[in-house]
Amino acid sequence: MAYKITEECIACGACQSECPVDAISEGDDIYVIDPDACIECGACADVCPVGAPQLE
Ligand code: SF4
Ligand code: SF4
Repeated sequence: MAYKITEECIACGACQSECPVDAISEGDDIYVIDPDACIECGACADVCPVGAPQLE
């Protein structure tokens, strides 16, 4: 299990600096989460203005 950023992402970048394990990076169109690094803390979901990070 890990959070995944859905297509709702508007690439604002707000979540990236919130991740304690640096699992979030900028992808081609939207930001992406490394599922092997994510510890499911939910910090990215809390800060996201559009609710794009979802727990899979
Ligand atoms: Fe990073 Fe936490 Fe979001 Fe996983 S849930 S990507 S660990 S901020
Ligand atoms: Fe995308 Fe939300 Fe992260 Fe902004 S905070 S880059 S909208 S996932």
